[in-house]
Amino acid sequence: MATTHWELYDAIVIGAGIQGCFTAYHFTKNKRKVLLLEQFFLPHSRGSSHGHSRITRRAYPQDFYTKMMEECYEIWAQLENESGTKLYRQTGLLILGRKEEAEFRTTQDNLSKHGVEHKYFNWEEMKRRFPNIQLPPGHGGIWESSGGVLCADKALKALQDLIRQLGGVIHDGEKVTEIKPGFPVTVTTTTRTYQAKSLVITAGPWTNQLLLPLGIQLPLQTLRINVCYWKEKVPGSYGENFPCFVVVFPDLIPHHIYGLPAGEYPGLVKICYHYGNKADPDERDCPSASPDVADVRILSGFVRDCLPGLQPQPAIMECCMYTNTPDKNFILDRHPKHANIVIGAGFSGHGFKLSPVVGKVLYELSVESTPSYDLTPFRIRRFKHQDKASL
Ligand SMILES: Cc1cc2nc3c(=O)[nH]c(=O)nc-3n(C[C@H](O)[C@H](O)[C@H](O)COP(=O)(O)OP(=O)(O)OC[C@H]3O[C@@H](n4cnc5c(N)ncnc54)[C@H](O)[C@@H]3O)c2cc1C
Repeated sequence: MATTHWELYDAIVIGAGIQGCFTAYHFTKNKRKVLLLEQFFLPHSRGSSHGHSRITRRAYPQDFYTKMMEECYEIWAQLENESGTKLYRQTGLLILGRKEEAEFRTTQDNLSKHGVEHKYFNWEEMKRRFPNIQLPPGHGGIWESSGGVLCADKALKALQDLIRQLGGVIHDGEKVTEIKPGFPVTVTTTTRTYQAKSLVITAGPWTNQLLLPLGIQLPLQTLRINVCYWKEKVPGSYGENFPCFVVVFPDLIPHHIYGLPAGEYPGLVKICYHYGNKADPDERDCPSASPDVADVRILSGFVRDCLPGLQPQPAIMECCMYTNTPDKNFILDRHPKHANIVIGAGFSGHGFKLSPVVGKVLYELSVESTPSYDLTPFRIRRFKHQDKASL
């Protein structure tokens, strides 16, 4: 039976992925007592935040993400200073697509609107500047110089160290098994029971498991993502001086493809498909959930046609989880019936770069201060009329 721990925390945060860690960090920065609970021993690779690298960029078709990224860049730099760890490598970023296509055009307009330095390169300019990339005729690239790579595992470690240094408590290897809403809210894990004034649920693909006994189910789709690494034919050709890229070819490829210069493994470029197969996070690696490789076929075709300096078969395949919402926008909101339970979920495969502001907003919702951003796009009630939502 779980023993009871009688200290009253200002907040308990469930899940030590990047969103839970940044939330706990903001609590400790504001001198609040926080307990961060993680089901697995840290570090682990079972959720969505592990691995060496993530892309960061301001280039988004949605105005609100570009706006949030301004402060994200500041907080990432602050975290680098406080931890003495380099977490961001500026490589520049290319959005590849056709000027006439809506998402491509909106992204460009949005960068202009926010005064973000960028350029458009047509097909000929792309060929001259990036001879390693071979685009289909009529396609070009938006260049954003501030795009780059975030060091994911290092960021998690830096945050967890700082949370502890600032007085926060992290208990790993403790799975939350029961939540009793109320004031205080009571949380039981596999070993203990805790109480807090508020609760933040940042449980990634496990979110709906925790919400079921709390009377809601969100329209979240959990997807298994094949993380593929592709070998350079000539060592160094897609390394140091190669940018991150996002491929937006809706006429040719249903979902985005994205890539990062060789980094985690010498001579291997990380290129992934922005979609995967539905999977339960607890059964991700079971033989019954054997990976469907339709995405790898799409990636192979893209690599063969557009990145001719890479071997068109992946050299390494790893695994990660996405938790998608129907509109691919995040959920940052209070539980509809329990105001001191806050939910951060549905990061839809693009939440890492935005986690500094996600954590800040989840903190603000928990302490009932006015959120720094308009949260309309992130409200739970936007799903009210959708089949899967039970709110
Ligand atoms: C392959 C891949 C590439 C990506 N690339 C990018 C990118 O380039 N740029 C970008 O911005 N984003 C990217 N993302 C998305 C980004 O990584 C995710 O949005 C982000 O990591 C989500 O973090 P999270 O904290 O919500 O989830 P998670 O990292 O899954 O964390 C949730 C945590 O909650 C814990 N937990 C769950 N249930 C319980 C429980 N009952 N008790 C205790 N603990 C519990 C889990 O163990 C887990 O540690 C990528 C994601 C993947 C998979």
